[in-house]
Amino acid sequence: MLIANGRQFVALRKDGPHRRPPVFHAVTPFCRMALCAAEPGAGSGWAEPPSSSVTCPACLTRLRRLRGAKG
Ligand SMILES: [Zn+2]
Repeated sequence: MLIANGRQFVALRKDGPHRRPPVFHAVTPFCRMALCAAEPGAGSGWAEPPSSSVTCPACLTRLRRLRGAKG
């Protein structure tokens, strides 16, 4: 579980097509959409279990912004 600016996120894996390396996105526990607006496509979903760290560059940028936000 990650906390940024009072919000909770979990790092969930989205498997790429054609056995590409998986990417871990920051997803809120109650929403299917990741911080970077990625969603699991039709016929797939966020893969459990969650990781301890996010690897998606877009999600990481937004997490940093949230952590740096004041108030
Ligand atoms: Zn992402």
